[in-house]
Amino acid sequence: MKKWQCKVCGYIHEGDEPPETCPICGADKSKFIEVAFEEKVHASPEPETETASPEAGSGEESRHEKFLRIYDMVTALMTEHHLHPISVHIPNGVLPLSVFFAMLSVMFGAAGMDIAAFYSLIYVLLAMPMVLFSGYNDWKRRYGGNMTNVFFTKMICGAVVFCLALILVFWRLINPEVAASSARGLYLMIYFVMLGAAGVAGHLGGKLVFGKK
Ligand code: FE
Repeated sequence: MKKWQCKVCGYIHEGDEPPETCPICGADKSKFIEVAFEEKVHASPEPETETASPEAGSGEESRHEKFLRIYDMVTALMTEHHLHPISVHIPNGVLPLSVFFAMLSVMFGAAGMDIAAFYSLIYVLLAMPMVLFSGYNDWKRRYGGNMTNVFFTKMICGAVVFCLALILVFWRLINPEVAASSARGLYLMIYFVMLGAAGVAGHLGGKLVFGKK
């Protein structure tokens, strides 16, 4: 029995041939390499694109080079200390609560619930830029920036959550009575779509971290 390792996520497949696509990250067959039976190979992502290397400056470091060096140092620390999963848990705990409050406000016309939904959603919105940036950074650093269907779906879901939260917050700002208006069905539906997108992104993230189980 041969062993094949996905170069993007590190998944190990046992069989005579590598799988058509990686069941964890969706990378295709070409990303698999055969590994010796007891060899422990750490996932070393293949970069899809070359990262911009600072021009070989002579002597003094320009402001741009200094910025790149600090950016590189900070983003490496972000990945090393798992800032993406940490930052994801901040809005992910509050988002279902916001949906729950919105549901109660639409169903029972409870003004207090409407305010609770609105403020919790603002909190979600404020947390999203760090979620998106740390996710992008992990994709580049941990998975070599390989664009498989799994990463593509995660990015779309993140963008959907951010955009829908933005729409809902602005809608509520423009029309504070929206939860009691005739458009309340659509308003609530957007909340549910946003929750669904966060769920899909979380599910795929869990698969990448914990494997197939
Ligand atoms: Fe993989």
